[in-house]
Amino acid sequence: MDKPKQLIDKLEETSRLTKEEWIALIENRSEEAAEYLFEKARNWQHQYYGKRVYTRGLIEFTNYCKNDCFYCGIRRSNQNADRYRLTREQILECCQIGYGLGFRTFVLQGGEDGWFTQVRLEKIVHAIRERYPDCAITLSLGERSRESYRRLFEAGADRYLLRHETADEEHYRQLHPQELSAARRKQCLWDLKEIGYQTGTGFMVGSPGQTAAQLAEDLMFIRKLEPHMVGIGPFVAHHDTPFAAEKCGTVELTLFLIGLLRIMLPKLLLPATTALGTIDARGREKGILAGANVVMPNLSPTDVRKKYELYDNKICTGDEAAECRTCLNRRMESIGYQLVVDRGDFCQ
Ligand code: SAH
Repeated sequence: MDKPKQLIDKLEETSRLTKEEWIALIENRSEEAAEYLFEKARNWQHQYYGKRVYTRGLIEFTNYCKNDCFYCGIRRSNQNADRYRLTREQILECCQIGYGLGFRTFVLQGGEDGWFTQVRLEKIVHAIRERYPDCAITLSLGERSRESYRRLFEAGADRYLLRHETADEEHYRQLHPQELSAARRKQCLWDLKEIGYQTGTGFMVGSPGQTAAQLAEDLMFIRKLEPHMVGIGPFVAHHDTPFAAEKCGTVELTLFLIGLLRIMLPKLLLPATTALGTIDARGREKGILAGANVVMPNLSPTDVRKKYELYDNKICTGDEAAECRTCLNRRMESIGYQLVVDRGDFCQ
């Protein structure tokens, strides 16, 4: 048996590899090794989740951001970004439409926007919690204090998404301005877990400067954190950022990493991301077949969709929420899976 397959077997058996082994596996991966990996990944996926794909209704409620991440289209120095905020009523309307379509998880995602104060955020979470007691509320609002996270949890939020972006401090500095650090980002994740959130981390694949050694660190950090969710997608350049001319991440490596995550932590909630669907017309289907089990279609009002432009050519910006759900349903059925009406909690 060749080396990558042996390493895949070892990962499956022990749930761990050394840094050197991770690097060897990533650097020596082949199409054959990937097929071997995906079959194992699907076995675990079927064991815990069957062929059921969970959906999350994504509500991108503000594109104002105080941060200046070099990769992101809504960074504060992008003067060309057309800024918007949804009102509480608009957010609730998105939930109402989403509920009718079968969504039982709402994800509130946005830039780090000070207009949404702690009290305003708590009111929004509380209002959704009251109206939709059977739904999960996921927040993705960036870095906040432990106290803020705790109060939002008490207001009714169940889950929090905060990608660590890259576990390597030096690489982190290549992607972010000085005031942000990998250490702080990781601390937030430990806080979120301790408070009791179902916690999601993740990273971009193929972000500028990324090496196999850094990916090894990402995987080892995830192993240590043991999050409930991991969102990974290819880096995709945005024309109004310092990384405008950088190469995008590849479908091939993203899929391989999804497979590795599935066999390392078999119960993970793993989305086939919109970024993956953006660089490949069948990217999300391929993501599911590599071991992912979640999709996150957009519930934002159509008139703001184009404005939440983290990267170029983002898909589904012209569709109504209902169209997105139907389209994804069709896509999942084409590969023998089905979207389900379910909160889609982490399987205990
Ligand atoms: N402000 C929130 C939400 C960020 S947007 C937070 O800090 O968590 C969600 C994710 O989109 C980011 O975590 C990042 O990994 C991803 N993203 C941003 N710009 C991107 C780009 N150019 N290509 C691919 N993914 C990108």
